[in-house]
Amino acid sequence: MNLSVAVVGAGPSGFYAADAMLKAFPCSRIDIIDRWPTPFGLVRFGVAPDHLSTKNVTKLYEKILDKPGVRFIGNVELGRDLTYEELKSVFDVVILSFGMEAPRVLDIPGANLPGVVPVTDFVGWYNATPKSMDCSSLVVKTRSAVVVGNGNVALDVARLLAKTESELVATDIEPSAAEAIVQAPLRDIYVVGRRGPIESNFSFPELSELGELLEAQTSVENARLPADASAAEESVKKKKERNLRVLKSFSERKADDRPVRVHLMFYVSPIEIIGSDQMTAVKMVRNTVVNGKAVATDETFVIDADLLVPAIGYKSASIKGLPLSGNDGAVRNQDGRVEPGVYVVGWARRGPNGVIGTNRVDAREVVSLIEVDSPAAIKAGSVGLDNVLSERNVDLVDAAGWRQIDAAETARGGGGRPRVKFRILDEMLRESKKRVAA
Ligand code: NAP
Repeated sequence: MNLSVAVVGAGPSGFYAADAMLKAFPCSRIDIIDRWPTPFGLVRFGVAPDHLSTKNVTKLYEKILDKPGVRFIGNVELGRDLTYEELKSVFDVVILSFGMEAPRVLDIPGANLPGVVPVTDFVGWYNATPKSMDCSSLVVKTRSAVVVGNGNVALDVARLLAKTESELVATDIEPSAAEAIVQAPLRDIYVVGRRGPIESNFSFPELSELGELLEAQTSVENARLPADASAAEESVKKKKERNLRVLKSFSERKADDRPVRVHLMFYVSPIEIIGSDQMTAVKMVRNTVVNGKAVATDETFVIDADLLVPAIGYKSASIKGLPLSGNDGAVRNQDGRVEPGVYVVGWARRGPNGVIGTNRVDAREVVSLIEVDSPAAIKAGSVGLDNVLSERNVDLVDAAGWRQIDAAETARGGGGRPRVKFRILDEMLRESKKRVAA
C-alpha cells in the first residue's frame, strides 16, 4: 500500500511539503485540501496584485498538481466539512499548512469603530478573497489613511492606496477596489511604526517602490534616522544599511507637487481611535526604544484619518481538537511534529514571518522528520476522504475545476490585466463545473 498523505492548505508551504513528500516517498498519494475552490493560498490572496512576477511561482505549483498521485481537493474546510479527528483517521500522514488566517488586532479604545479595517479584510478586498469585507464605499471617501506596522504588508497597503489608474491597470487587483482607490480623495497615507528604522521589517525592494510612485511622494517624518546600521545584528546589517540609504533619500527630497504624500513615521503608536459613528482621527504617542521594546513617552499628537488598517501580523484561527501555542497562535509543535502522524509547516508552524522561499526550507526540514518517523501505510487515504465528503454532500472542486476557473478568469482579463478573479464563492463554484471543451 502507498502512504496516504493529506496536506491541509494549498498555499506555498503546502505545495513545498507535497513536493518534498513526493521526493522522499515517491509512491505516496497526496490530497492537497483547501477551503477555497482555488489553490495557491497567499500567492493568490496575499501577495500584492501589482507584484505579478512573484506570482510566477504558481507555475511550479501547477507542475506539482500535475504529478501522479496528487489531487487538489478544493472548497473543503477543516473544521467545517471534516473534523481533525476524521482527517487523522483517514490519512497515514497529515501535514497542516493552513497558514494564519486571523488578523492580530489593536487593543486600544475605538478599535471597533467603522473605518478600522482588519488587515485580512483589507488585503482580501483588493485581492478578491471571497467573503472579505467590501471596503469600496469606505475607501472611495477616504482623505487620509493610517497603516499601522512596519512590515511588508503595511508597505503593500500604503503603495496600493497611493497608486493611480495607470499603475493599477497591469495588475490582478479586484476591479471595484481599483476604481475606489482611483476615485478616493486620498491625500495622506501614514505608515506608523512603534519602533525605529533599524527594527522595521521592510524589504529593500518594497521600500524602494515607495520612491517610484507616479502621483505620490514619500517622506520620512520627524526624521530620527540613525547615521548607520551599526546597532543592527551582524546577519542583517547589510540589509538594514540598504534600507537606511533609501530612507535617507526620502528624507532629503524636496517636497514636490505630486498630490499624495506617504508619510513614514517611526517611534509612534496609536493609543486611541477617535470618532462616534465613524473614525475621524487617531491619537498617537511618541515612543522611545528601551532594550528593544517600544516604550511610550508623554508626548501625544493627533492624525486626522478616515481609514486605519492595522498591518501588525496574523494568528491562527482555532480548529477544534488542535492545540495552539500561547504566544503567536501557531499550532503547538516540536520542530514541526504535532502528534504521531501529524506535522505542521509554514506560518502555522513558525509564525507569520519569512518570504515564500522560506517555506521550501521549512517543508524540507519537516519532511526529513517524517522520514525519520517512517510512518506505516495502513489507512484508507483518498477513498476514505471521498466517503466522508460524499456523505456530507460537500461540493468539492478538483484540479480540473480549478483550471476551468483559471481559464475563465484569464479570459476576463485583457488590456494588460492578466486575469480578473471571481470574488463571489458561488460564481467560482458555478464556473468550476463547466469543463473546457477538449
Ligand atoms: P511583520 O513583518 O511581522 O510586521 C508586523 C509589524 O507590526 C512590525 O513592524 C511590528 O512591530 C508591528 N506590530 C505588531 N504588533 C503591533 C502593535 N500592537 N502595535 C503596533 N505595531 C505592531 O508582518 P507583516 O507585514 O504582516 O508580514 C508578514 C510576513 O509576510 C513577513 O515575513 C513579510 O516579510 C511577508 N511579506 C513579504 C512580502 C514581500 O516579500 N513582498 C509582502 C508581504 C508580506 P515590532 O517589530 O515592533 O513587533
